[in-house]
Amino acid sequence: LSETTTAWTELTAHLTELETLGGVSALLAWDQQTNMPPAAGASRGKQLALISRMQHERLTDPRVGAWLDTLEASKTELSPLQAAGVRNLRMRYDRSVKLSSDLVERFARAESDGFTAWVQAKQNNDFAAFAPNLQLLLDLTLEKTQAIDSSRHPYDVLLDDFDPGMTVAQLKPLFARLRDGLVQLLDAIAAAEQLAPVDELFPVAGQRALHAEVMAALGYDLQSGRLDPAEHPFTIGIAPGDVRITTHYYEDDLLSGLGGTIHEAGHGMYEQGLPVSFVGTGVRDAASLGLHESQSRFWENTIGRSQAFCNWLEAKVQHHFPDTGVTSADLYRGSNRVEPGLIRVAADEVTYNLHIIVRFELELGLLEGTIAVADLPDAWNARYQEYLGVRPPTDAKGVLQDVHWSGGAFGYFPSYTLGNLYAASLGNSMIKAIPDLWARVERGDFAPVLAWLREHVHSKAHLQDAPLIVADAVGERDAVEDLLTYLWGRHGALYGLTRPV
Ligand SMILES: [Zn+2]
Repeated sequence: LSETTTAWTELTAHLTELETLGGVSALLAWDQQTNMPPAAGASRGKQLALISRMQHERLTDPRVGAWLDTLEASKTELSPLQAAGVRNLRMRYDRSVKLSSDLVERFARAESDGFTAWVQAKQNNDFAAFAPNLQLLLDLTLEKTQAIDSSRHPYDVLLDDFDPGMTVAQLKPLFARLRDGLVQLLDAIAAAEQLAPVDELFPVAGQRALHAEVMAALGYDLQSGRLDPAEHPFTIGIAPGDVRITTHYYEDDLLSGLGGTIHEAGHGMYEQGLPVSFVGTGVRDAASLGLHESQSRFWENTIGRSQAFCNWLEAKVQHHFPDTGVTSADLYRGSNRVEPGLIRVAADEVTYNLHIIVRFELELGLLEGTIAVADLPDAWNARYQEYLGVRPPTDAKGVLQDVHWSGGAFGYFPSYTLGNLYAASLGNSMIKAIPDLWARVERGDFAPVLAWLREHVHSKAHLQDAPLIVADAVGERDAVEDLLTYLWGRHGALYGLTRPV
């Protein structure tokens, strides 16, 4: 056997066990958020911490570095799969070994303290109480990015964790154009006649049955997954053959709960579609959080809020809720009504990205030193006023609303908007490739949608970074233009608007 073959064989055996440990940890985390008895919290913390330490030891094992060195030295002999696995693993390995255990510990403590302080501060509407924690998390984040690669923009180093292949230099102009286009659309909608919400009550028992029917119809595989209720819905890939989703039912908001289930099913179908043959290669992962989000958003919005989908859904809703008399027109209007608000997670499709762009601009300012922590609430409120036309009455409903910064997760937010941008370009190409797409959706036939995504996205796993996977699927597209065209198309028609030229 050649040295290269031996190194690859040993590396994949090692990685397979590392992935298995990851699955154990994921199962513990899933249980923690769905079924765990309240008194089990402390022992669960110990179990998770032990697995996490074992994962870290395995990942930073010096043999991993040696295997990578050997494989990199014989690059020309590597298959595309091997080359991608080596590239992905090199990034993970270097990031892990470059951070001293002292810095990792200080960061973990700052995260834990930050979360506690944030919960209190949000409850008491007291930003000043959280400000020192935020400052510490920022300082440690900069220390971390310095340690990993001091030659690059700190935000680019952070983006590698979430959306490798994306940079500040690309994001800034993209988000600025999107912001201006969205503000223009939002202004037009604000001046138009508003749409009615669906504001009846829908008993939870009927919603459970409806969600189960919808997710199975979409193609989420219940032989390899399950749906459970959770306080904050999430998807978790545990292992091949085990990808679980969660949801939340709201008696007074049928569409938001159903949209949540479709969203998580979209994440779940992506994970279910990652090739089993890639286990242990370093490639069997989502290419990025943004690409993950493109899958959930595509199903939730492009498909799940379409007229065709609402036409299909009408009979199901009437079957499960015979007393309500809700029609497909009600569902379509209710799904697509636009209302600028303060809270990101409750935002509609048009305003959602403005919430993200506010956060991106602010965290970039914090990391570049152009915005001080103490000035953050004012900077937040001014942007909400300018982009969305609303002003938070309290910091609890403003700068304190999201958990991300309390855990030092800077650079995470852009993934949400990247997901919408990718989804718009993917949707554009899919609709061209499947001319009878909407007729089939109207019949409840979602198989061609899933097949297209399987072929162009899921089966690619992390063979390439997300921008390249999307470019392969759609060609050279202007994603901002794709998203604005899509939003003007749907919302323009509903609100009786024509896009200015
Ligand atoms: Zn998501």
